[in-house]
Amino acid sequence: MLLSLVIPVFNEEQTLGILISRIREALRGFDWQLLFVNDGSTDGTLDILHEIALDDNRIQVLSFSRNFGHQTAITAGLDFANGDAVIVMDADLQDPPELLPKMVRLFEQGYDVVSPQRISRRGDTWFKRSTAAVFYRTMARLVDKRLTSNIGDFRLFSRRAVLAIRSFREQHRFMRGLVAWLGLREAILPFERQPRAAGETKYPLLKMLRFAWTGVSSFSALPLRLSIAVGTLLSCAGFGYLLYVTYLALFTNILVPGWASVVILQCIFSGMILLALGAIGDYVGRNYEESKGRPLYVIAGAYNLMLPENGIPRASILIQPDPMDLDVREEPENDAAPIGAAASHDTTRRVFSA
Ligand code: UDP
Ligand code: MG
Repeated sequence: MLLSLVIPVFNEEQTLGILISRIREALRGFDWQLLFVNDGSTDGTLDILHEIALDDNRIQVLSFSRNFGHQTAITAGLDFANGDAVIVMDADLQDPPELLPKMVRLFEQGYDVVSPQRISRRGDTWFKRSTAAVFYRTMARLVDKRLTSNIGDFRLFSRRAVLAIRSFREQHRFMRGLVAWLGLREAILPFERQPRAAGETKYPLLKMLRFAWTGVSSFSALPLRLSIAVGTLLSCAGFGYLLYVTYLALFTNILVPGWASVVILQCIFSGMILLALGAIGDYVGRNYEESKGRPLYVIAGAYNLMLPENGIPRASILIQPDPMDLDVREEPENDAAPIGAAASHDTTRRVFSA
């Protein structure tokens, strides 16, 4: 049985060495390959990966032309990984490699998805833990009630689960939602989440919020319906108030002193309208982006990899095999087109003065 690991990396030069040695140790006796997806790193990550790939042809590298985001990097990894089981994990050792053999054992018992569940998050700050708690609860309500708390993207997928996930080609992706949507047979394996081995989180607050919103909006139109409900409620309140004011004007001689209340109501109503419009605009925008049918990612470099025989829908693969590098590599046995060890690409933008 071949086990593929998929690891998205974005500026992780400090963690790669220790990550690989822990994986090698944990997977002794297994037949494995490790696919790194370099998500537009701007530090030395790609160079280090190239070095490692030259030494060990079980280590494969895909390199994006720029940062396309964690979820897209996982997507590309699953598009290219061809093991009988595929495990997606983070590069920062928050997901302990020592858990991998246990996950494989559960896979061998017939589960399509094996999901390690964080029972403690020692490494995370109080803020991260509490926002995560709100996140999981909201997601289960709004997105899919099969979404289980504290399960992230660290997961094992059977070959057929991978094939099913590959069939989703939408632009705004929330992988956990897709997996829950599939409804495959899943085993849950509790584990203790470790602190990051080195470096810093690549999910600052704003990115985390955007990720949460993608989760909600790509699976549910509830925010739109919510704005209908809130709008109806506020309109009813407005009409009630109108009746009250009319009554005051007709049957009493209290001067309506209402400037403040009018202004307040005006603000609340305009706020609600703008919010609702914003939500609608966001959905329309996402729809627009989807309708353009752009590729999900652009691959500008790869090492030790084979192109899937039928190509990949909605992916742009720009690789020029480098014959020098190909010489030192073993010839592929089947007739799939080799993505030779493409020369490392230059992703920097150059600015020329006139
Ligand atoms: N990552 C990525 N692209 C991004 C952000 C993150 O490929 O735009 C990778 C990152 O290198 C790591 C994994 O996704 O391997 C999870 O990121 P991180 O550990 O920073 O997230 P956190 O654990 O803090 O939620
Ligand atoms: Mg992390």
